[in-house]
Amino acid sequence: MIKFIITLSLIIIKSRMEKYLTHPVFQFVSEIINSERKQAYVVGGYVRDLLLERQSKDIDIVVVGSGIELAKKVADYLGKKTKLSVYKNFGTALLKTDEWEIEFVGARKESYRKHSRKPIVEDGTLDDDLRRRDFTVNALAIALHKNKYGKLLDPFNGIKDLKNRIIRTPLEPAVTFSDDPLRMLRAIRFATQLKFRIENNTYEGIKASAGRINIVSKERISDELNKIIMSQKPSYGFILLENSGLLNYFLAQLAKLKGVEAQNGIGHKDIFYHSIEVLDNICEHSENLWLRWAALLHDIAKPMTKKFTKENGWTFYGHEYHGARMLPGIFSSLRLPLNENMKYVEKLIGLHLRPISLAEETVTDSAIRRLLFDAGDDIDDLMLLAEADITSKNELKVETYLNNFKLVRKKLLEVEQRDAIRNFKPPISGEDIMKTFNLPPCKTVGIIKYSIKDAILDGIIANNREEAYELMLKKGKELGYHLGTKNH
Ligand code: ATP
Ligand code: MG
Repeated sequence: MIKFIITLSLIIIKSRMEKYLTHPVFQFVSEIINSERKQAYVVGGYVRDLLLERQSKDIDIVVVGSGIELAKKVADYLGKKTKLSVYKNFGTALLKTDEWEIEFVGARKESYRKHSRKPIVEDGTLDDDLRRRDFTVNALAIALHKNKYGKLLDPFNGIKDLKNRIIRTPLEPAVTFSDDPLRMLRAIRFATQLKFRIENNTYEGIKASAGRINIVSKERISDELNKIIMSQKPSYGFILLENSGLLNYFLAQLAKLKGVEAQNGIGHKDIFYHSIEVLDNICEHSENLWLRWAALLHDIAKPMTKKFTKENGWTFYGHEYHGARMLPGIFSSLRLPLNENMKYVEKLIGLHLRPISLAEETVTDSAIRRLLFDAGDDIDDLMLLAEADITSKNELKVETYLNNFKLVRKKLLEVEQRDAIRNFKPPISGEDIMKTFNLPPCKTVGIIKYSIKDAILDGIIANNREEAYELMLKKGKELGYHLGTKNH
């Protein structure tokens, strides 16, 4: 009877899995392996995502034997539509078409690490391969060869963990994590992306091994961080990163924001929790990774600018300026790109208080023009950031701010339509000034140029060449220069 039930449940699982193998490539692969009398399995993240009904981009196939040989045969079979790249040292081959990407790899015995730089030396069985993977839910395999087609292999009860939404290492956490300490970060990344819980023993293992993250390259760390930031609610991941001690090893500046200091019975808000709340808020409105980074780091310089006085309570004067200055160092230590994306984050941090201070005052056209000039095309993102930054528990305060922001946005539109300041280029250039007064490059040129820019932004003259030219002559005259002056 028991045997019958087991057989029956296996049949159910088997048929269920077959149903999932809808991707056309599984049929091709299966036919080829059958003619070769080999064994192959679809494994890892693809199987996990299939069962979770999540979109998955890449398929991984493990072959008992050579992955490269099988990939070559599949490529021949499919003909011109595919592009095959072979990485002999790593024993892997990547097959791509316009629609999908499959990696073929031979089953391996030693530490499993995708895209590892370490060459693969030892062949292994499928069991060897699965036990070297990071989590039980990533150690699932479905057979693709004849007779077994569609059969699920689940040596570590990954299905149960999937159902209970749990991240757990297949071996003792200390063993799995010491093999490749990045897995500690991957655990937090998967928990955040999938909204899973990290099982206690696994989490304790992360705490115990946290310091080992130091041996992992910063590129791999920031890949995982970016994935956490791109998830729906990244605060969950950042709380785990901070709480486990990991954050301190690669983004100590952020970990340092945690905690509340009180003086004369007045505390300031916890800047760490505020920062990750702002990050969550921005995630509801934007998929832009760099805007999300700006939200996370906008208050990063608060600890160094913090002051308490009886008159003003807690202040953080200049934290936006210092935060912007800290950014290149943070990006460089995480090996994040030091390009226009970094400049964008730096700029948003530097400007993040501007819309708030506008919303606090009566909004003048001149202040709006200056904001438009400084933010340029990033004005909409800056407004999103400023709105996300309102995390007060006082509902009335929040509402007042958000209403004022609406007013600022309306004004921004009006002024932009009228004065086209967003991509403003002064109608008189430094060259023009030098030619007019016969001047070499010198301080005077700058003084005249800035007075024209200020006059336009302040609405004293219109944004056109005639009025700017007039003003240039007037300013020059005040400074003792005339058309074509030679006496300097
Ligand atoms: P995603 O593609 O969303 O990042 P994934 O689980 O598919 O998630 P990949 O990095 O594509 O992750 O790896 C595919 C599979 O390879 C994983 O599911 C896991 O079984 C295994 N794997 C990848 N990296 C590691 C690692 N560092 N340690 C152990 N196993 C790993
Ligand atoms: Mg993957």
